[in-house]
Amino acid sequence: MTDRIVHVLGAGLAGSAAAHAAAAAGVPVRLYEMRPDRMTPAHRTGLPAELVCSNSLGGEGRTQAKGLLQAEMRAAGCLILEAAEEARVPAGGALAVDREVFSRKVEEGLRALPSVERIGCECEDLPAEGPVVLATGPLTGDSLAGRLRERLGEAFLRFHDAAAPVVLGESLDREVVFAGGRWGKGEDYLNCPLEEESYRRLHDLLERGRRHAPHDWEDLSFFEGCMPIEELARRGFDTPRFGPLRPRGLVDPRTGREPFAVVQLRREDKEGRMWSLVGFQTGLKWGDQKECVRAIPGLERAEIVRYGVMHRNTYLNAPRLCDEALRLRVDPRVHVAGVLAGVEGYLESAATGWLAGRNAARRLRDLEPALPPPESMLGGLLRFLRQADPEGFQPMNANWGLVPPAGVSGPKRIRREAMFTRGLAAFRAWLESSRP
Ligand SMILES: Cc1cc2nc3c(=O)[nH]c(=O)nc-3n(C[C@H](O)[C@H](O)[C@H](O)COP(=O)(O)OP(=O)(O)OC[C@H]3O[C@@H](n4cnc5c(N)ncnc54)[C@H](O)[C@@H]3O)c2cc1C
Repeated sequence: MTDRIVHVLGAGLAGSAAAHAAAAAGVPVRLYEMRPDRMTPAHRTGLPAELVCSNSLGGEGRTQAKGLLQAEMRAAGCLILEAAEEARVPAGGALAVDREVFSRKVEEGLRALPSVERIGCECEDLPAEGPVVLATGPLTGDSLAGRLRERLGEAFLRFHDAAAPVVLGESLDREVVFAGGRWGKGEDYLNCPLEEESYRRLHDLLERGRRHAPHDWEDLSFFEGCMPIEELARRGFDTPRFGPLRPRGLVDPRTGREPFAVVQLRREDKEGRMWSLVGFQTGLKWGDQKECVRAIPGLERAEIVRYGVMHRNTYLNAPRLCDEALRLRVDPRVHVAGVLAGVEGYLESAATGWLAGRNAARRLRDLEPALPPPESMLGGLLRFLRQADPEGFQPMNANWGLVPPAGVSGPKRIRREAMFTRGLAAFRAWLESSRP
């Protein structure tokens, strides 16, 4: 009777949180994990919820977007947050952990629930029946990835991430950036005009910028068709401005003519709270990336809510393939979670996992999925994944652009604290009203 069991594929950040949430809701769970028999190129142990790189789950506190998501997951009793508290190490304002203690605490948390059955195997396909949480992460085993690609379509499962930085709309200098598409078509873009001097400075910074070294197992030759902006800069002074930074058809209303070059910004969300730099995909180190972004006229004070990355990743085109509860449209038994669902980061993976586990348990009880309110950080992430433009979709992390402003004026700290208080209160009320 495997249709009366929640099947969780992958015991990473999302899968461990999902298995725990479903079992805590009182339903039987099977948690499948291929490690240690079959390792990924990045994992080193057979432990659940292994942190493959940094040991931080993000900045803490009432002004931090990740701080709000942490508070929500604490309120929800998410196993990953509980383990993180127990494995905490001092890290000046961030929730950092001793990674081995952390994974062992997750292991203990899962073992404490007898209704979680652990199965060591590589899943080559989705289970045929019962609710499924698909949480096999950015390094999903090849056979399963191949099956997903066959089912969902070649174009909708990505194996690499080539992302440009995203900046917060409220941090743009609107006196400098101007709205409008090329040749006066539409108002969908914002444009940052560069004259020769500012272009030269940006070009120098891009040329000199230090790149993140790819992991030795990553083959980035794939990106020839999607060149990082710093690589274009290295090819010649004019290359970026004859490419993605070309000014043709963009007249700056302040001067009445085309600038020397233009960095265009494309809206990431309907409300225009987040904007990505068009054609500016980059693998530069974050400090250097920030310096380049802030050298662009109009972005001198830009708040970067997601940095550009060029790395191996596996994720679904969630806006196209998933419904509002992150279930596959073609098979709503399957709740997608973690990086595979189009979120970025340990904490975001854990939070979507927790939600998937909870909703999979609800499905066994013939209840509809329960969705967190849009004022909460998890609700904001979900809303973004539903509403993002499927063309060129890129994964997203927790940030303040995901939730509506709280209608409070004053310094940034006050506005953020108001969003935090409102978001957590809304999340708590929702938790109470939607017991699994
Ligand atoms: C190299 C690298 C470095 C990263 N660094 C950071 C960082 O520093 N900070 C950060 O916040 N985020 C980072 N991320 C992004 C992301 O937050 C993490 O990858 C996070 O672990 C994702 O959680 P997840 O649950 O989606 O996937 P994972 O934690 O990777 O869990 C997926 C699990 O599924 C298992 N699995 C895969 N395929 C199968 C299968 N077919 N059958 C059974 N089991 C399977 C895997 O072994 C794994 O245990 C990094 C990602 C990568 C690839």
